[in-house]
Amino acid sequence: MSELIRVQCPKCGGTMKEKAKKIRGGYSMPCTHCATSIVFESESNNSAIRQALSQARRLRRQAMAAH
Ligand SMILES: [Zn+2]
Repeated sequence: MSELIRVQCPKCGGTMKEKAKKIRGGYSMPCTHCATSIVFESESNNSAIRQALSQARRLRRQAMAAH
């Protein structure tokens, strides 16, 4: 299971991909473009972050249903 989610950096707008199973509330990763730490919070005021989180949740649910 290695579905990739497209993540947009709130600071520089650059995009990168991260595994869906890693993206959940409280997870953070460094931007590959500007090295800013991107924090995934469901209460984030950045819509791209919230979108990535719900996308990851959906993929994880699908993965569970497939087994
Ligand atoms: Zn960035």
